[in-house]
Amino acid sequence: MIRSGYNPGVMSKQGMEKFRRRLLAWFDEHARDLPWRQTSDPYAIWVSETMLQQTRTNVVAEYYPRFLQRFPTLEALARASQADVLASWSGLGYYRRARALHESARAVIAEHGGVIPRTAAVLHRLPGVGVYTAAAVASIAFGERVAAVDGNVERVLTRYLGHEPVPGAARSGQLRQAALQMVDAKRPGDFNQAMMELGATICLPRGPLCLTCPVREGCATQGEHPAPRKRKMLSRKQALGLVQRRQWPKSEVLLEQRPADAAQMPNMWELPAVKAGKEGEMSLLLTVRHAITNTNYYVTVYGLANDEQKLLAKATGERAWIPVRDLHDKPLTGLTLKILKRLKVMPGYSGGGLAVVVGELARDAEKEFA
Ligand code: SF4
Repeated sequence: MIRSGYNPGVMSKQGMEKFRRRLLAWFDEHARDLPWRQTSDPYAIWVSETMLQQTRTNVVAEYYPRFLQRFPTLEALARASQADVLASWSGLGYYRRARALHESARAVIAEHGGVIPRTAAVLHRLPGVGVYTAAAVASIAFGERVAAVDGNVERVLTRYLGHEPVPGAARSGQLRQAALQMVDAKRPGDFNQAMMELGATICLPRGPLCLTCPVREGCATQGEHPAPRKRKMLSRKQALGLVQRRQWPKSEVLLEQRPADAAQMPNMWELPAVKAGKEGEMSLLLTVRHAITNTNYYVTVYGLANDEQKLLAKATGERAWIPVRDLHDKPLTGLTLKILKRLKVMPGYSGGGLAVVVGELARDAEKEFA
């Protein structure tokens, strides 16, 4: 509901100035101390903005320093193999982002002499760099006055201006125009980050904390907006498999590489599936829930001896024994990484000879992660 006397979507010049001033003052005091806020390196900012799309901040905070340690410069990233880049991305999901970042790094070397373009318009022409990422990098790293509108910003603006919530579609039209007008000319990067921060910490999707909101006074809805519809979660059972063997002095795991022409997650490594109906012949080790967009996957993990490989479903890609100590260097699917960590199969695990099988079709489980 819009407050009475409020004209939706219209802001006076003074109203905008007040909004900017209050938002930036709040951001200066309350901004979370996140690793990518300690740098002015355009490459590092670009990496963080790419990771932050579709991945939670706390997860990115864990992966970001490791990724930069491995690929500290644009040149290092461009020189790396795709398998190495995917291995460092493993667990972050949506691997298309990693491939695009890698491809873009090479394009910057080849077409821009290794210098990252300074404007959103040119950044957007790089492979896989969307409108949001281009605007975020151009404003934060180079101070261009452009609006970076992600889901959080869209929600803040929709509520503040009293627009009807139209997910996604609003970003391209009226809302984007309003966002551009609102961006602070002197501190565009901070302004964009402050808007994202407000959406992520105060103007929450459900239950916005309006009483502590720095721009509450001018907000058209102040929490009286329509509640977002609850996402209906589907559930599916799954089965995948892994066998571990010890060959003194090393321990190895049987993994399968997805075909190079697979529509989702090409070339990534995963646990092989098991034959449907054979689960009764295996010993249960673990059940994992793996949530992807609107689906909860319940994955059952079984123990399997080396000579029980006949219980695995037919391979669709190449299978190989991977030494446990090399697993971190392999581009593993997120589900596979999760299972190997949960079972402490990854380096540091001292158990021996176990086998793991996860139900039905892990490939389907991770299709959203492409
Ligand atoms: S007052 Fe409430 S609804 Fe309005 S912008 Fe602030 S947190 Fe969001």
